[in-house]
This record gives sequence, structure tokens and C-alpha cells, in this order.
Amino acid sequence: MAAGGGSGFVGRELTRLLKSKGHEITVISRQPGPGKITWAEVESAGLPPCEGAVNLAGENIMNPLRLWNESYKKDLVSSRVNTTRILAQAIAASPTPPLSWVLVTGVACYKPSLQTQYTEESKWTPFDFLSRLVKEWEAAGQLSENSAEKTRQVIIRPGAVLGRDGGAMKQMLIPFWLGLGGTLGSGRQPFPWIHVSDLAGIIAYALEPKEEPPSTEPDVFNGVAPALNTNFEFTKELGRTLKRPTIFPVPGFFLDVFLGSERAAILTQGQKVVPKKTLESGFEFQYPNLTAALKEIVGN
Ligand code: NDP
Repeated sequence: MAAGGGSGFVGRELTRLLKSKGHEITVISRQPGPGKITWAEVESAGLPPCEGAVNLAGENIMNPLRLWNESYKKDLVSSRVNTTRILAQAIAASPTPPLSWVLVTGVACYKPSLQTQYTEESKWTPFDFLSRLVKEWEAAGQLSENSAEKTRQVIIRPGAVLGRDGGAMKQMLIPFWLGLGGTLGSGRQPFPWIHVSDLAGIIAYALEPKEEPPSTEPDVFNGVAPALNTNFEFTKELGRTLKRPTIFPVPGFFLDVFLGSERAAILTQGQKVVPKKTLESGFEFQYPNLTAALKEIVGN
């Protein structure tokens, strides 16, 4: 298997899982190293023969050390769109293309709402920076009809990925441990989330060869747990699991100033996302609810 960005938080979990299933993984990275090839090598020499390819590369959107400005936004786009394009072009040019091509994007394509529920079949049009990014990102991964007959295309749109070794939890654990955790903004906004093991499981499932022939359009799976939680419910459950109070709400305007309003919106607004097709495909979540997920992540 070839994994762009396989060195990251989700990629490390996926690599562990695929190795346990007997696969060999080649990580595509900016840096050369053992078990890795670089993006420049893929561009010049093509994709090594592999059964499946996935792209997980992207500059971290929640990097607290980076100011929300044009240069950061440019990096967020190019790190995702360019790597995705390189992989899609290498797949199309390969004499032995992989059977599956999985692109991991995000739920930012769905417009935040307290009421609307989104499934993979929901129609959406870009409405802000992040949804435009998802549009461009998913378009960059699209294979021509000819290539799509040989390689199954899958798009997985995860919510906030929860796990001990990265993502949102890594930044939240210290304030929550100190009893300084609290709801963000109103707290009523939906908080779509998934345990990192389940996301790795959905990706591995998508990478597996299937019997039916691939369609020319990508199969889309929402990578979110089926429990529809709000930020308030998440905050209270994390506090309970850690046995810490969560009495200090973080006002929306503070996040706007600290993170930039477009980025703060990821935290202060949210989408009710349902993993309809993911469940229909037969995938079984190991962590379908917050109690089980948070217990695994911080319980010990
Ligand atoms: P990470 O932040 O761990 O980054 C993954 C990899 O991307 C890194 O290991 C790095 O690989 C590569 N990367 C980082 N910056 C750049 C850059 N500027 N240019 C090219 N490559 C870069 O990501 P996650 O594992 O958390 O997420 C995987 C994917 O899932 C990402 O695309 C992310 O947007 C998406 N996603 C993640 C969510 C989350 O909560 N974590 C939520 C929703 C979507 P290397 O150093 O080897 O080049």
C-alpha cells in the first residue's frame, strides 16, 4: 500500500492496522527515510506497484503556532491539492495501477447548521474558504473515466479525529486536566467526531479489493461516529472521563481573535453528519459513542 502523509497522526494508526493485516506500507513524504519515498520521486519516477493508495497529507489546520493569514491558507490548500494531484496523476500513469485510491478530506464541505443532517448523498456547494478547499481537493483526486475503470475511487470525509497521539485531543488534554476546559462558543453546535482507530478501519476497509467493478465516480463515506453529539456533550463527557470540572466556557470572540474567525468557526460551528453509507457498507464502529471513545483515549 502507498500512503501519502502516512507519517502523520491518522497515517501512523493506519500503518499499524495495515501491517497487522499483513500489508507492506510505503509512506510518501516530504522527507526521505526508511520505508518512505518522496513526493518528488513519485512525480519523477511514478508510483511503485501497490494494491491501494491513500492520501493523508496536509498542513495542520489547527497549528497554534501559525497565524491565520494568506500564506498559511495557501499552504493549507497546496499541501492537500498538490499532493492529491501528484498521486492521482501517478495512478493514471501507472502501468500497474492500484485497485483502490482513497482520499481523506473533511466534513467542512457541509454548511454548519443546528438542524440540517448531512449524509454522503447530501448535495453541497462551497460557501467559505474550507468548503472551497474541499471542493478543489476532491476534484484534484478525480481520475479520468479510463483510469476509474481500473482503480476504485473512494473519498472519506472525517469529523474531528479523536486519539491520544494527535489531532484535537492532544491540544485539549492539558487545559482539561488542569480543570480549565469548557464549552466552546454556545456549546450547542454539533461536534462530528470519530475515534482514530475507526477512521483507520474505514480507510483499510475502503482499500480492500471489492468484487463489483468500480464506478467512474468516487464512493463517498462520512468518517464520523453515528452518535450525534454537541460540543456541550463532548465537553461534559471529557470532563467526566477525566474527573475534572468543565465550568469555564470559552467565548466565541476569544477564539475568533486567537485563531482567526474562519478557523475558529471549525470549533464554534458544526455540522450534524450521519455516516449513512459507511454503516450501510457493513462497517462496524469500534467506538460508536463518546463514552467508549474517551474512555479508551484518556481513561487510563
Ligand atoms: P497530520 O497533521 O498528522 O499530517 C499528516 C501528514 O501531512 C504529515 O505527517 C506530513 O507528512 C504531511 N504534511 C504536513 N504538512 C505538509 C505540507 N505543508 N505539505 C505537504 N505535506 C505536509 O494529519 P492527520 O493525520 O491529523 O490528518 C490526515 C488527513 O485527514 C489530513 O489531510 C487532514 O486534513 C484530514 N483530517 C484530519 C482531521 C483530524 O482531526 N486530524 C479531521 C478531518 C480531516 P511528512 O512530514 O511525512 O511530509
